[in-house]
Amino acid sequence: MRDTIRTLEQRSRKLDPGAEQRRRLMDQASQYADAFLQRLPRLKTYVADEGGHGACFGSFDEEPSDFGELLEEYGREVDTTGILPSSGGQMGYIPGGGLFPSALGDFLAAVSNRYSGVAFAGPGAARMEASILRWMCQLVGYPETAAGDLTSGGSLATLSALVAARDASGIEPADISRTCIYHTRQVHHCIDTALHVAGLGSVQHRYVPMDDRFRMKPDALREAVESDRRQGLSPWLVLASAGTTDTGAIDPIGAVADVCQAHGLWFHLDAAYGGFFRLSEEVRDRLEGMSRADSIVMDPHKGLGLPYGTGAVLVRRGGQLAQSFRYYADYMQDAIDAQRDEQEPYSPADHSPELTRHFRGPRLWFPLKLFGLEPFRASLSEKIWLARYFHHELARSEGFEVGPEPDLSIVTFRYCPTGGDQEETNRRLLQAVHDDGRVFITSTRINGRFTLRLAVLNFRTHLEQVDYLLDFLRHRAPTI
Ligand SMILES: *Cc1c(COP(=O)(O)O)cnc(C)c1O
Repeated sequence: MRDTIRTLEQRSRKLDPGAEQRRRLMDQASQYADAFLQRLPRLKTYVADEGGHGACFGSFDEEPSDFGELLEEYGREVDTTGILPSSGGQMGYIPGGGLFPSALGDFLAAVSNRYSGVAFAGPGAARMEASILRWMCQLVGYPETAAGDLTSGGSLATLSALVAARDASGIEPADISRTCIYHTRQVHHCIDTALHVAGLGSVQHRYVPMDDRFRMKPDALREAVESDRRQGLSPWLVLASAGTTDTGAIDPIGAVADVCQAHGLWFHLDAAYGGFFRLSEEVRDRLEGMSRADSIVMDPHKGLGLPYGTGAVLVRRGGQLAQSFRYYADYMQDAIDAQRDEQEPYSPADHSPELTRHFRGPRLWFPLKLFGLEPFRASLSEKIWLARYFHHELARSEGFEVGPEPDLSIVTFRYCPTGGDQEETNRRLLQAVHDDGRVFITSTRINGRFTLRLAVLNFRTHLEQVDYLLDFLRHRAPTI
């Protein structure tokens, strides 16, 4: 038996490269990353896909491959087409980022593979995540009793928030079809996914009217709630946005909170896009009142420029999150016994549907500590001013019609030289931006009209990219 084991050991040891081989692999990976970052300012932000070869994705062989060749294939098959989220030219959808120290944080988290789910297994890892969440809670003005969880993104954070809201409100299956939720037409569609997964797909949606800047009208909200109450229905949840995806509008947080308070409704604030603008002096006040929300979602992989894979849910009465997600299993008894004596330390797994998960702390902790908060504040304020600048410049450009003055960093616009709604013209103009590929923007529909949209958020987006887009639009639009 020992011989068999030894032979297998010889073969399986290849999974654990020695110092010399590790150094070579690291050098190669680091050279690849460096070359990429060197080229990044000159790379197109958008390149249409042509199907790729994908031969290397086809199968896995028994034999090893050469790392250099794999990196080449990776570069060819992955790092070429589509939208480049790490580029400053990415000004479509809600941009992401890709902070370099986050990549190093991921690397270190993966090397030691610290388990962050349960405090007993990774006390330091759990404390790191707890401290990051504490900081976010302070940022939004939450009390000490708040708790949260670092999730894979805003959608999963929303799911956790709605499950906590459902349980805290004691909604049973029989109640669902009489249960009403309130939001504008501009709410993010991850809400529908979350409701569906949480078994709440058949709640009644009330679309609250908006003002001319796409913000929820609190009076209309109050009327809708009262009308439903009169009809014997069960108003339950208000979903407001601190930064809608389409236009960046911030719903009137304080006034919505008043309605929720008066009627005993759960107030969920979707701040996936806008939440971290609390760091920016320019709009800090507009986000006043966030602390009155019962639950908040914020996306570090948007506003903080992290690589994709990190969102956050915060719940004002943190116990409500644990109420929904803390479960017990016999094989976890060591962890649970160890915690019984102390003042129970924070464990992400008690606040999340995930158990074993990526240790997300380091990708936040390293950049926030290494750079300090100041450059994050500056970058977010810069994005606000870039959006204002773009709005201002385009408004005085021949033939362009701009949407409302931006609440945050999204500007909507159309090219309408004769004043009419020229859908085809704007489609072609967008196509021209995409064909050029230096910068990337998207379109949406606003009040039924095809509308172009700029969203500035990436920490690498500066005047240069916005000026490029302005120039491009001004020169190309008349030729379309
Ligand atoms: C991006 C976004 C979401 C969804 O978050 P993901 O991280 O993409 O899952 C939800 N709401 C708003 C307003 C967003 O911008």
